[in-house]
Amino acid sequence: MTDTLVLPSTPVPDVPVDASDRTLPRLVRDTLPVALDVAIEVAKLNGVCIHPIEIKRLDTHTGMVEPFDVPCGATKEAKCPPCAKRNQQLRRAQCREGWHLEAEPIAEPHPATDDQKWLIEFRADVQAKRDTAERDGEEVADWDEAIEGIDAEINASGMRGNVLGGRSIPKRSRSTRRRQDAPDLPKRAKQDTTLGRTFNAPDGRVYRPSLFVTLTLPSYGKIRADQGVPVNPSTYDYAAAARDALHFSKLVDRFVQNLRRVAGYDVQYFASVEPQKRLAPHLHMAIRGTLPRAEMKQIAAATYHQVWWPSVDEVRFQGDHLPVWGERTERAEPYPDGQTGDYLDPTTGELLPTWDEALDQLDTDETAEPLHVLRFGTQVDVQGVLAGSPDADQCIGYVSKYLTKSLGDTLDPDDPNHQARRDHAARMVEALRYEPCSPTCANWLRYGVQPKGAKAGMMPGRCKGKAHKPEHLGYAGRRVLVSRKWSNKTLREHKQDRRAWVLDMLGLPDETATDPHRYVWRPVSTKDPTRTPLAKRLLRGVANRHRTRARLAELQARADGRPIEDLSETTGLEVAA
Ligand SMILES: [Zn+2]
Ligand SMILES: [Zn+2]
Repeated sequence: MTDTLVLPSTPVPDVPVDASDRTLPRLVRDTLPVALDVAIEVAKLNGVCIHPIEIKRLDTHTGMVEPFDVPCGATKEAKCPPCAKRNQQLRRAQCREGWHLEAEPIAEPHPATDDQKWLIEFRADVQAKRDTAERDGEEVADWDEAIEGIDAEINASGMRGNVLGGRSIPKRSRSTRRRQDAPDLPKRAKQDTTLGRTFNAPDGRVYRPSLFVTLTLPSYGKIRADQGVPVNPSTYDYAAAARDALHFSKLVDRFVQNLRRVAGYDVQYFASVEPQKRLAPHLHMAIRGTLPRAEMKQIAAATYHQVWWPSVDEVRFQGDHLPVWGERTERAEPYPDGQTGDYLDPTTGELLPTWDEALDQLDTDETAEPLHVLRFGTQVDVQGVLAGSPDADQCIGYVSKYLTKSLGDTLDPDDPNHQARRDHAARMVEALRYEPCSPTCANWLRYGVQPKGAKAGMMPGRCKGKAHKPEHLGYAGRRVLVSRKWSNKTLREHKQDRRAWVLDMLGLPDETATDPHRYVWRPVSTKDPTRTPLAKRLLRGVANRHRTRARLAELQARADGRPIEDLSETTGLEVAA
């Protein structure tokens, strides 16, 4: 068992099913084996992951080996509707829990939990096995799939970034001349709290109001309200729209900084970046505590972000006239910038400036202008919300409404304006084609600058960055932004709350809690002859879901008070009424 990995306290998926089990729903028994596409539809209808990752579990107490399916954990409907929906429900719970907190969340940073440690070790093991497989010329798709799943788990467990991307290059310090000035805004004395003010009514009731804010980017040209497309595409400022989308998350960061400065307390928020009909990103933000509406508008108006990147005004290389790559000469030490070669002008042989050199030039150039300046549009919506009110629920709906969709995913083929909207999206993609998306973007070569960490084979217009893709339309950042002291729980902890609750309801013991070393897990390779066909695994998932649902419904019938809708809300299961 060389592939064995010891994994304490893994997320326990569903209970395994014996296909000959007479208690299986008839539908499931009768359709084994079944056409895969039917199984996928059945799985979707039942809220079961359609890309489950199969793993085998060895119970070290009993010696039994059982197959399990771990959900893929996708957040977008286009990938896996059931997982995307569950993620959306979890986000709603997270939003609800932190919004109107009455007591300060505990703020000590927790040390890495056992969970987090094993995830990292697990990730490293799986990566090593994948690399070995690749070296041996084997199929690695199933390893990659497993790795993707583990990365999602790692992020969900509250750790930032990814394991391999954690290079510790010191951050570049910009010259003070370029530092962005704090805008001229009122400032309150700083208080050490994350809670908003409360207000006492004459009748003795205490009100704890919070805010719901929607921030939008400026106009790039008149939009036809019915279609969400420009009235005049030839004058619509696609270039500005592209740059605003690319750097939107920085503008949001500035807004939060300014907000905290004005409010005078450690303002907490739960925000989502959602697509507007005109295909620009905008921001919904639930904010704990309250500020006067006029002040919020003032903060939004004063907030800006400058992008200090090299100029892209002049196209220096295009078509067949592109920079050429030359290896640097051998030396014992690795190069400090990590590059092993450089790009040169194809006609003159002139060395193009590296990314760092280009930034240094920018720093010393007194006349330099920022590449782009972002501001919010004038349309700022501020709504006061009271804890537990129907308004609060409605806002939580807004904040999570499109989380299962990509930014460019709102194109409905049945929409009568489909063609016009598709053309609009295509023009946006075209505007993003040669726009540098990040310091490492291959497009820098077009403007005579070597991308950061340049490598052989880079081509302007062929950057693989997410931002250029039609489904992202410039915004490649996180779709949900949650401040550190919101609910004081990670998404994974919210998930475990529910899991514990379901196990408790079902009267099942949480075995991993008592003995974290009991189980040994092992991914199942595509070559494994004992691997279960996908259709069968999907139906196994459906059968599990049916049994869980039936059991919950039965308990529900006996329980006093808790309505069935609440049950589904808490478990992420759709419990049939
Ligand atoms: Zn899934
Ligand atoms: Zn790029």
